[in-house]
Amino acid sequence: MIKQPTAYQDLQDPQARPRYAGIASFFRAPPSQDLTDTDIGLIGVPFDGGVTNRSGARHGPRAVREQSTLLRRINAATRVQPFAAARVRDLGDCWIERPYDLITALSEIEAFYRIVTAAGIVPLSVGGDHSISLPILRAVAAMHGPVGMIHIDAHSDTGDDYLGSRFHHGAPFRRAAEENLIDPQRVIQIGIRGTTNDPDMWGFSQRSGMRVVSMDEFADLGWRAVAEEARRIAGTGKVYLTYDIDSLDPSQAPGTGTPEAGGIGVHEALRLLRSLQGLDLVGGDLVEVAPSFDVGTLTAFNGASILFEILCLLAEAFQQRTRDQRSPEAGGERA
Ligand code: MN
Ligand code: MN
Repeated sequence: MIKQPTAYQDLQDPQARPRYAGIASFFRAPPSQDLTDTDIGLIGVPFDGGVTNRSGARHGPRAVREQSTLLRRINAATRVQPFAAARVRDLGDCWIERPYDLITALSEIEAFYRIVTAAGIVPLSVGGDHSISLPILRAVAAMHGPVGMIHIDAHSDTGDDYLGSRFHHGAPFRRAAEENLIDPQRVIQIGIRGTTNDPDMWGFSQRSGMRVVSMDEFADLGWRAVAEEARRIAGTGKVYLTYDIDSLDPSQAPGTGTPEAGGIGVHEALRLLRSLQGLDLVGGDLVEVAPSFDVGTLTAFNGASILFEILCLLAEAFQQRTRDQRSPEAGGERA
């Protein structure tokens, strides 16, 4: 070690150090490739080969890492301390060796995540475009079976083939339902809006049993009622949380490829996420941050703040599962 704190022993903790110093890992968590000392793995997926319009989300992980260094240790609203509750590490990037071949790229992502989940690590990812959630869900479902899902997005992402491709960022959750990776009855989609070329754009979601909360309904009900609805639908089983930054209003998240006017405010989003405490979350992602369209670093910063809330939820859920495993009467040996 070249540099060892001498004046303040607190500074042994990377989260206690001056936030402007050091290499920009996610939340200044220790970078690691060691799968044996990690409970929650933060992973960048710099891939945007699935976008249907404006590209650039491949630069999302780096921008979110940089902005995430602004956050601190403790969630002042919920009092959760994720880095104390679990061993949180930045596992680096799931970068793609053959990015121009979409199906191969998705297979590469799946293979990476199968190693992560098989090691018992809870993955928290930053895209990349939303097509990355499909291969991540393949790995998650391989461990847990079909999961419930909280999906916050301006788009339902349950479209069908586009320009001859089964796979793109507008279709991951139709494919995930078809592949039995998610249980549509336990899926809620929140914030859906915008214009469409397909009058049946949300049809697959609704026919398969997903609950679609349009942006208008979200505005009418408010975050508190929608959070209650989300908890009811996701239930007590394993749940995945996927957050598309374009769910936010473009005034608060301009840096994304497919903006839609009239979205969720960032404070509403934080409250909504905090109200999901208690769900048995086994993974999450934040996708579609495209820094080249950003104004200042607004989108990446709001994205990092949302990512922190998801991290807090995952850390609490991890802690609860660990407790359950230790006390058989409280839930027993079921992993
Ligand atoms: Mn999306
Ligand atoms: Mn979207």
